[in-house]
Amino acid sequence: MKAAVANQFGDNLNIETLAKPEIQDHQVLVKIHACGVCHTDLHACHGDWPVKPTLPLIPGHEGVGEIVELGASVKHLSIGDRVGIPWLYSACGHCEYCLAGDENLCLSQQNAGYSVAGSYAEFCAAHADYIVKIPDGLSYLEAAPLFCAGVTTYKALKVSEAKPGDWVAIFGIGGLGHLAIQYAVAMGFRVVAVDTGDAKRQLAEKLGAEAFYDFNIDNVVAEINELTAGVHGSICTAVSKVGFRQSYDVVRRGGKCVLVGLPPEEMPLPIFNTVLNGVSVVGSIVGTRKDLEECLDFAARGKVKAIIEEKRLEDINDIFADMEKGEITGRIVMGISS
Ligand code: NAD
Ligand code: ZN
Ligand code: ZN
Repeated sequence: MKAAVANQFGDNLNIETLAKPEIQDHQVLVKIHACGVCHTDLHACHGDWPVKPTLPLIPGHEGVGEIVELGASVKHLSIGDRVGIPWLYSACGHCEYCLAGDENLCLSQQNAGYSVAGSYAEFCAAHADYIVKIPDGLSYLEAAPLFCAGVTTYKALKVSEAKPGDWVAIFGIGGLGHLAIQYAVAMGFRVVAVDTGDAKRQLAEKLGAEAFYDFNIDNVVAEINELTAGVHGSICTAVSKVGFRQSYDVVRRGGKCVLVGLPPEEMPLPIFNTVLNGVSVVGSIVGTRKDLEECLDFAARGKVKAIIEEKRLEDINDIFADMEKGEITGRIVMGISS
C-alpha cells in the first residue's frame, strides 16, 4: 500500500510502498478514502512535544473509509461499514478514567498517527471498539475533519460550560477554529473570533462570528472586553503563546479559559487575577466516542459543515508548509483511495 512516512523529525515525509497491515482478532482493516491534515500531525513530524512518536511514523488521525476486513472476534461491525479512526485509537476500558466515561484521559491509550500507525495510507488497522461510524448523508471528505477538529472543539465548548446566549471567544480560525465557530453558534453561543488576514475574517463572519479581531492589527484584548464585558468562555486553538495569554485576558469573572492548541511553550498566569476573578483555566483533549457521535450528528443534521479543500497524499509536504505559515482556510483533506 501507499503511505506517507516520517523517517526523521523535521524532514519531509516520503511516499513509500509498504505491506498492507495485518489485523489482530479485535481489529478491523479500513480502506482509507480520505484523511484530514491536523496541525498535530505537523507537531508529531517535528517531534515538538515532550512525548515523541516512534519513527518511522505514518501520521494521520482524521482517517475515514470503509471496513474491508474483520478480526475474528469483531461481531458488531460489518464489511462495508463507513467509519473513522480518531486520535483516541484505543483506551484500556477498565481504569478509573475509562469507567467514569473519561476515556480521553486514559493513561494506557494509544493514539492514531502517533503511538500507532495512522491514516496517511491506503489502509489502516483499527481497534474495532474505538472507531466510530459515519452517519448516512455525510461524505468521506466532509466527515474526515470531524474526527479530530470537530470533536475536539465540540468537546472544548462543552468544557467551557457556556450557556445559550453567553459569549465565547475562539482564538485561531484554522482547521479547529472554523469548526469551533459553527459548533458554538449551533449551541446557541455568541461568538467573537481572533486570527489574522481577510480570508480568516471573511470565513469567521460567514460562519456566524459577530466580530472578528486581527491579532496583527487590532488591540484584541481591549476590543473584546469592550464588546462583551469579558467572555464567559474562551477556546484557544492558536499555536501561539501570545494567543493563549490573550484568550486568558478576555475571560470575565467566573469564566473559563479552555486550552486546546498545543504550542510547545509555557503559559505564565497571574495568580492574583486568577484568584480574585475566580477564572478557571482548563485543558481539553479531543473527546470520547460519545462526544464524537454527538459531533457527527450536528453535521448530519446540517448544522455544521467543514470547509475543505481536497488534495492528494503526495501533496503532504506542501500542505505542512502552508499550515506552518497559517495560510490554510478551513481544513485540507487528502483524498486517498477511491
Ligand atoms: P491550524 O494551523 O489549522 O490553525 C491554527 C490557526 O491559529 C491558524 O489559522 C493561525 O493563523 C492561527 N493563529 C496563530 N497565531 C495566532 C494568534 N496569536 N491568535 C489567534 N490565532 C492565531 O491548526 P489546527 O489543526 O486547527 O490545530 C491547532 C492546534 O490545536 C495545534 O497546536 C494542534 O496540535 C492542537 N490540537 C489540539 C487538540 C486537542 O485535543 N487539544 C486536538 C487537535 C489539535
Ligand atoms: Zn483506561
Ligand atoms: Zn488532530
